[in-house]
Amino acid sequence: MEAYYDSDASLEVLRHQTLGIIGYGNQGRAQALNLRDSGLEVMIGGLRDETAGQAEKDGFAVRSVAEVAERADVLALLIPDEVQRQVYTDVLSARLRAGQTLDFAHGYNIRFGLIAPPPDVDVIMVAPRMIGTMVRESFVSGSGAPAFVAVAQDASGHALGTALAWARGIGATRAGVFKTTFAQETELDLFQEQALWPLLCLSMMMAYEFLAEHGFPPEMVALEMYGSEEAAEILREMARVGFFKQMRLHSQTSQYGTLSRASAVPFAKEMRAFMENALAVIRDGRFDAEWRSEQAAGYPVFKQLRAQADAHPLNQAEAEMRRLMRHPPE
Ligand code: NDP
Repeated sequence: MEAYYDSDASLEVLRHQTLGIIGYGNQGRAQALNLRDSGLEVMIGGLRDETAGQAEKDGFAVRSVAEVAERADVLALLIPDEVQRQVYTDVLSARLRAGQTLDFAHGYNIRFGLIAPPPDVDVIMVAPRMIGTMVRESFVSGSGAPAFVAVAQDASGHALGTALAWARGIGATRAGVFKTTFAQETELDLFQEQALWPLLCLSMMMAYEFLAEHGFPPEMVALEMYGSEEAAEILREMARVGFFKQMRLHSQTSQYGTLSRASAVPFAKEMRAFMENALAVIRDGRFDAEWRSEQAAGYPVFKQLRAQADAHPLNQAEAEMRRLMRHPPE
């Protein structure tokens, strides 16, 4: 994988360009503040009113999306993926002009062809691998959030330079920026959400239900599984010292138990089949079709799934766990 750092990216590329960000939420706010602190001027395009107030409080002039789309040389679309197509169709498509750059923080709409910019526009992605608050906090602390960059269209011949300059402006090249494609970033992201996390989620829900049925106090199970933050610490140590190496921080009994049972899980083949199916459904567009019809219908399945999650007894167990803890996780 090609990696880029501060020395590979020049802010000068953006210095004399007009930068516009549509949306002032998780990513919009963090990226706008970081770019400004990097000495660049940014215009914010507000669609509705809720976050426009925050942008103004932070000292940005909020303009209409149409105005920002017309004036910006580099235009970042930092609104939820589900609404990008509509905003693009209603406001942006008629206003984009040759030589502009359209920037995304996730490849979804380009990967699935929901947005098809004209060929004389550069299309880039700078996708931080952290949530917005961390993109901001890591910038302020001096470290920076790593990011993936990609170029889907290079009309100008210098789209990658623009992407790297934006990445530098938000602090990502301090940590490392890795070149990928819109397709790989999107598929990997969705695979993580639709294969890995469901397996982890199901394992934890099942373990909770099973142990509660076998007489373990529910709040004790919640504390043991994740409430003490030991699990979060394990993931952190995986990133810091290594997936397997972090095991040395635990007892030998723990290491033996985990390694011996992981290699003997009797349904590993089924898990792999589940993963294969998840990736196939993502790649051939079936997930996108399902998700879009869910949105068009007003989220009936999603609402039901959320209601089920809200009603799961684990919610009460962790409320009790938090009540009993002197310093519950914040
Ligand atoms: P947010 O949900 O935080 O976006 C909120 C912003 O979008 C607000 O300014 C809001 O305006 C506006 N908005 C919301 N709904 C609409 C709508 N229907 N029409 C017009 N504007 C709307 O988005 P994120 O920052 O989470 O995501 C932006 C992009 O960044 C996405 O592509 C996402 O995949 C990507 N990304 C997000 C990460 C994260 O930290 N969440 C991490 C990495 C990538 P108002 O308040 O007025 O409604």
